[in-house]
Amino acid sequence: MMVKDVGEALLQDIRDNPADDTPRLVYADWLDEQGEGRRAEFIRDGVELAALKDCRHGTFYGNCRRCFLKRSLKAAMGKYAVAWSGGLYSMLVEPGDRFLAGGSLVGNPRSHWHFDRGFVWKVGCPLAKWLEHGAEIVRRHPVTSVKATDRKPHAYAGTLRTVYGWVGGVYAPGVADSPRHMLPVGVLTALDRSGELYSDHSHGYCGWGTEAKACDVLSDALIRLAKGDPR
Ligand SMILES: [Zn+2]
Repeated sequence: MMVKDVGEALLQDIRDNPADDTPRLVYADWLDEQGEGRRAEFIRDGVELAALKDCRHGTFYGNCRRCFLKRSLKAAMGKYAVAWSGGLYSMLVEPGDRFLAGGSLVGNPRSHWHFDRGFVWKVGCPLAKWLEHGAEIVRRHPVTSVKATDRKPHAYAGTLRTVYGWVGGVYAPGVADSPRHMLPVGVLTALDRSGELYSDHSHGYCGWGTEAKACDVLSDALIRLAKGDPR
């Protein structure tokens, strides 16, 4: 296999097994052989940090191993955030956008991504950006969480009056509270296929009971949509 193909096969293993540390550590070893020691160290430090318990230093830096790793990862992000973001910068950040890189979060409130154990796992961006670039993003990164930053999934406890305008399977924009809640038909279809959509067709409401649940289900649907998963 060509060097590039080996790297791609290792990345595929990471994307297929996002929760597993081993493929990440194997990839880090491979990066070392390619002379990319700093990126390899970033992955190993991230894997080690994720396995450590919280320390007593909170948001400050103390002299423990955890704080050392946090500081090291932050320094690396400050320097390599764009280079290691695999095209996310050019896909999601508009010219003139405020852009921040430090800690595990890179970007701005509208478009951002988070690193975990060396790789991007979470992406937040306007829905239109995800529909445009999502397929490419999931092809490159082991993303397991997506947030449409211009949509507000929410649920009112008790009444379940959260709504993405879904009446008897037909998208009905008038049902949603405001345009920021509305979703394109493709996303709604993916949501419906998740089988987790609570629907009360007689009242034209659908939802998931809690805001957190609504965000999770929407995130899963957006990832499935990007992967072209017909399920
Ligand atoms: Zn500490």
